[in-house]
Amino acid sequence: MQIVDNKYVLEGGVDPLILAEKYGCPLYIYETAIIKRQYDRLTNAFKLKKIKINYACKALNNIEVLKYMKSLGAGLDTVSIQEVKLGLLAGFRPDEIIYTPNCVSIEEITLAVEMGVKINIDNLSILEQFGSLYPEYPICIRINPHIMGGGNSKISVGHIDSKFGISFHQTPHIHRIVKAHEMIVEGIHMHTGSDILDIDVFLQGAEILFQVSKEFKDLQYIDFGSGFKVPYQEEDIETDIEELGEQITNRFKSFCAEYGRNLTLMFEPGKFLVSQSGIFLVKVNVIKQTTSTVFAGVDSGLNHLIRPMLYDAYHKIVNISKTEGRSRIYTVVGYICETDTFGTNRKITEINEGDILAFYNAGAYCFTMASNYNSRYRPAEVLVHEGRDYLIRRRETFDDLIQTQLELKNIFEAKAVKV
Ligand SMILES: *Cc1c(COP(=O)(O)O)cnc(C)c1O
Repeated sequence: MQIVDNKYVLEGGVDPLILAEKYGCPLYIYETAIIKRQYDRLTNAFKLKKIKINYACKALNNIEVLKYMKSLGAGLDTVSIQEVKLGLLAGFRPDEIIYTPNCVSIEEITLAVEMGVKINIDNLSILEQFGSLYPEYPICIRINPHIMGGGNSKISVGHIDSKFGISFHQTPHIHRIVKAHEMIVEGIHMHTGSDILDIDVFLQGAEILFQVSKEFKDLQYIDFGSGFKVPYQEEDIETDIEELGEQITNRFKSFCAEYGRNLTLMFEPGKFLVSQSGIFLVKVNVIKQTTSTVFAGVDSGLNHLIRPMLYDAYHKIVNISKTEGRSRIYTVVGYICETDTFGTNRKITEINEGDILAFYNAGAYCFTMASNYNSRYRPAEVLVHEGRDYLIRRRETFDDLIQTQLELKNIFEAKAVKV
């Protein structure tokens, strides 16, 4: 979203206020042009012939978004068998999907084998079980490089106390299992967390992966995971992708020369590709002035966008109904019956009840973390592509809320009131 002539506009001149009216609020809107900009930036930063970007679909899993990623040339990173199914539904070939689960059962992994996707194994117990079941099925191994990286503790996943990956100190043990079952290790992987700013974290991790990779002779790819930071606030800095690209490219080339074969370099970004593509529109229900604060209460809450409450994440908030005139200080809150503050003491152009506010960076980990808490419906989703808007998920209805509930007959006496 940009400001042109004092009005907020989306790709191709689409007016977000018209979308709010047409589809109602709360509403998620994603712009394909921004996804493409980010995808191109990433692929251009790495000057390698064999590079593959696997989009981490837990960030935003609408099937139309997945299809768009596929059209750009991306593969798919998945963390559950359901995400694998979504990927297949979106048209990804099984070999374009990598399945990186954590603490899932061998039964679920068996299903992934049957679907023919790439499998990333992140603990020794599963590695052994897998080896005795499917010794010929090539696998990738998730290494824990013992590196602290990530914007907060919930999203730092590559450090020594983390539940993710197999410690690189356990490489000899991996070898024993691989050898005993004559397994084929085609990939080595790490993912150290989200919101990583310092490119040295990636470079240190890369060195550890190279060390481990040297010892596996059947490799096709090395997967450096993700965690690229994008700006959320005006003054935020982001991961310097171009600098990282240059450094990793050089180092990767020299590693491949040493290894004796050109491997594929893989990344699996979620946030980097989709965070900035999304905005979230809400309507202001109430302006409430207390003795200390002016609250803007909106028609949404932690049920639709939980990142501020869960991670203390910052999402920039603007009033798209009014771009000019004086600003006031607001605390923007939701309608859920517990404290659900989206932003405290934000300077926003004067808000009237009925105005539409937009949250930035609403593409990644927003809709996919939405719930039905307080028995509210999850929002609709709209895709803006080449100047046109498309509804890609309808708003829920009351029937959606109750459709999985089963009624007990003749146990509790109750007479339903028709709603
Ligand atoms: C979540 C996740 C990603 C994506 O992380 P971002 O910070 O959104 O880029 C990549 N790989 C794995 C294994 C993940 O769990």
